[in-house]
Amino acid sequence: MFYHVKELQFNARVSKPDPKFARLLLEQFGGSNGELKAAMQYFVQAFSVKNPYPDKYDLLMDIATEEFSHLEIVGATIQMLLSGVNGELKNASDESEIMKLLDGTAAKEDFIHEAIVNPHFGVLTGGGPALTDSNGIPWTAAYVTANGDLTVDLRSNIASESRAKIVYEYLMKFTDDPYVKETLNFLMTREIAHYQMFEAALATIQPNFPPGILQGDPRYSNLYYNMSSGSEARGPWNEGSSTQLGETWQYIEDPLQQVLDSEGLTNMTPTGTDRTQKTIKELEAELSKLRSEEITSATEEIDMQWSTYDKTGGLISEL
Ligand code: MN
Ligand code: MN
Repeated sequence: MFYHVKELQFNARVSKPDPKFARLLLEQFGGSNGELKAAMQYFVQAFSVKNPYPDKYDLLMDIATEEFSHLEIVGATIQMLLSGVNGELKNASDESEIMKLLDGTAAKEDFIHEAIVNPHFGVLTGGGPALTDSNGIPWTAAYVTANGDLTVDLRSNIASESRAKIVYEYLMKFTDDPYVKETLNFLMTREIAHYQMFEAALATIQPNFPPGILQGDPRYSNLYYNMSSGSEARGPWNEGSSTQLGETWQYIEDPLQQVLDSEGLTNMTPTGTDRTQKTIKELEAELSKLRSEEITSATEEIDMQWSTYDKTGGLISEL
């Protein structure tokens, strides 16, 4: 259940209209890294998490709801930045008074220019926000990632928060309005907070790597392929121990020769690792049992009712 409170989460203000910046800000309204994407992503992810991980359900729904609050702030800011535009469009009988609210003599030209570069504000939305990005591309559910595995989804969310943060940082370079900057600073900072929440939640699920149940094949998990000639950069991504499995990176200088020698990588033994086909099969069996128990036990408990009421409410057919 959602309950709308008319207060904005943050006191969004603008100094003066700025249709050009309003257009840029659409990126965080209906864009690929925007607030609606974030809200819908965490909202959709939350359903499959409710029974096995009620604490993470709470986290995802709380952040999803906060992202809706951010969407509201961004929409309100766009609306304020377009003040004048919407009023003038309603003033159908008078074409000469356009954009008095804007500074300077170039105001009318600005308006006409803006109407050309973003026709949506001028002729489609009547001077309000539209669910598009800054180029007028409609918002799409394709921006939303949800894969039904919490460790995958949380990693995806950490990436989403990183992108949302950097887009706010870029946007702040394009406005001098101190009020707008303050709002963007708030919104950007909340993404920094969310990043750490998702990171901490991921750490509470152990083991969380690799995502899912099936383990990587020890023949291939620690190979680095030198796939080009010339300079050969070395670093912790191809020498020393791997970050999660702790195996020793094997630098394959000549990948083609390795393919030929190993009959297409089928005839080879794992090197630089303690993992074997036997140990990974054991781990997979153990993990399957654990994950499946988490889900079934939680499902029985709620008895196929989402909320926690006693089941006293009757069906209409029984009355
Ligand atoms: Mn946000
Ligand atoms: Mn966020």
